[in-house]
Amino acid sequence: MSDCLFCKIIKGEIPSTKVYEDELVYAFKDINPIAPVHVLIIPKQHISMLWDVNEENSAVISHIYEVAGKIAKELGLENGFRVATNCGEDAGQTVFHIHFHLIGGRKLGWEEQ
Ligand code: 5GP
Ligand code: ZN
Repeated sequence: MSDCLFCKIIKGEIPSTKVYEDELVYAFKDINPIAPVHVLIIPKQHISMLWDVNEENSAVISHIYEVAGKIAKELGLENGFRVATNCGEDAGQTVFHIHFHLIGGRKLGWEEQ
């Protein structure tokens, strides 16, 4: 998707601070962190939102959860962390390339923001 912000970040057309990368996913620091650790994990394949996840593309989503656990360990989040995906208007999704917020480094309330 040539006009997608996160596709541009994956291609390096927009700079980002890389945290992790492999053949399927890219993870980078959120530009506007809400906690000491706030990483966005995204599939390299463009999927707009959670309800576009299906039998054909869902393997990358389970891989993202594997990666999230590894990153959390590497960043020392042994006290806990959260992985969250906003889907659609009511949840406040602003970028329509599916992404997983990995948030930690402080006590997290249930309703954040
Ligand atoms: P959403 O609100 O869609 O769940 O989350 C989008 C996230 O992307 C927000 O937390 C926002 O701070 C982050 N974001 C938006 N634009 C950029 C950018 O250009 N670079 C980075 N690193 N993060 C961004
Ligand atoms: Zn995209």
